[in-house]
Amino acid sequence: MADAALKKTGELIYEAIGLKKQFDNGKVVALRGLDLEIRQGEFVAIIGPSGCGKSTLLQMLGSLDKPSEGKLNYRGKSLPDFEDHAAYRSHEVGIIFQSFHLLPTFTVLENVQIPMFEGKASRSERKTRATELLESVGLGHRLSHFPSELSGGERQRVAIARSLVNNPSVLLADEPTGNLDSVSAVQIIDLLVEVHHRLGVTLVLVTHDPSVAERASRIIQMKDGVVISDRLANSN
Ligand code: ADP
Repeated sequence: MADAALKKTGELIYEAIGLKKQFDNGKVVALRGLDLEIRQGEFVAIIGPSGCGKSTLLQMLGSLDKPSEGKLNYRGKSLPDFEDHAAYRSHEVGIIFQSFHLLPTFTVLENVQIPMFEGKASRSERKTRATELLESVGLGHRLSHFPSELSGGERQRVAIARSLVNNPSVLLADEPTGNLDSVSAVQIIDLLVEVHHRLGVTLVLVTHDPSVAERASRIIQMKDGVVISDRLANSN
C-alpha cells in the first residue's frame, strides 16, 4: 500500500515482513502479518483505533518484546536474533512512553544519566552530557528536582533528554502526549520535531491524535494488526 511519492532515499532502518504477534497462546492476535519499511531520517506517525496493534508494533521495534512470526530487520539484521538486546535499546534507540517512566527517587539530572551507567563515560562526563541535554530541552533550572516536583510536560522533557543521552539513531515515542494538556502536548511535539531536525534522528511516533500525526512527514494507518494506508502527511 506504499504511496508512490514516499521517499525511498534514506538507508533502510526497519523492515518488517509478515510480522505477527500473538498473546495468550494465540487467543489475542495483535499483529497479523504486518509489512513495513522505515528509512533513515523519516518522521513517521502510526495511527489507528485503540487495540489495533500500534503499541505492540512499537514494542517490537524497540526490542522490548519478540515477534511470534515473520521477519523484523534493523539495518539489514534480524532484530529478534540480536545477541545483546539491552545494548540495542540503550544505544540504537531512545524510547519515550506516555507515562514518562522516570525513577521517582532519582533527581532529574540522575534520571537522564541512567542509560549511561553501563557505558564508559566518567561521572563528570555523564553529568556534563546530562546537563547539556537538560538545558537543550529547557530544563537547565530543574536539575536537582525530583520528578514529582515537575509538571507532566516537564517530566516528558526529562524523558526526551534521557532518550537522547547515548546518541540513538531512532526515537520511538508511544503516545508521548497522551498524559498532557493540549498546550504541553503541542510543546512536546514541537520539541520532538526540533530534535528530529537538529539531530537527524529517525522518529517513529504512535498517536491517536490526528493533529499530532499531521506533524509527521509520513502517516501509517493501522487496523486489526496490519497497515491499511501509508501516505505523506498533508503538511508536506
Ligand atoms: P494499540 O496500541 O493500537 O491500542 P495494542 O498494541 O496495545 O494496541 O494492543 C493490540 C491488542 O493486543 C489488543 O487487543 C491488546 O489487548 C492486546 N495486547 C497487547 N499487549 C498484550 C499483552 N501483553 N497480553 C495480552 N494481550 C495484549
